[in-house]
Amino acid sequence: MMTAIDTRTAIESLRSRLCPACGGSKKPRQTLCYGCYKKLPQGRKDALYDYVGEGYEEAVEAAFKSLGVDKPSWPKAEDIAS
Ligand SMILES: [Zn+2]
Repeated sequence: MMTAIDTRTAIESLRSRLCPACGGSKKPRQTLCYGCYKKLPQGRKDALYDYVGEGYEEAVEAAFKSLGVDKPSWPKAEDIAS
């Protein structure tokens, strides 16, 4: 089974302005910046709309695999919008 990223990390990343795939900037509440999102195959894009705890973490992990991201850029505490 695929090891999913942890839920807390996924949510903090979602809230932040840091694209976890490329380390660039993105909009809060979006998983990836537009450039990274655009590179995903349609099925991988759709999976990012799954609920947290119901497939979202796995979808993010799968998106990283599609994009060839080995080491995601997770936000530091100060980057996380409240
Ligand atoms: Zn990006």
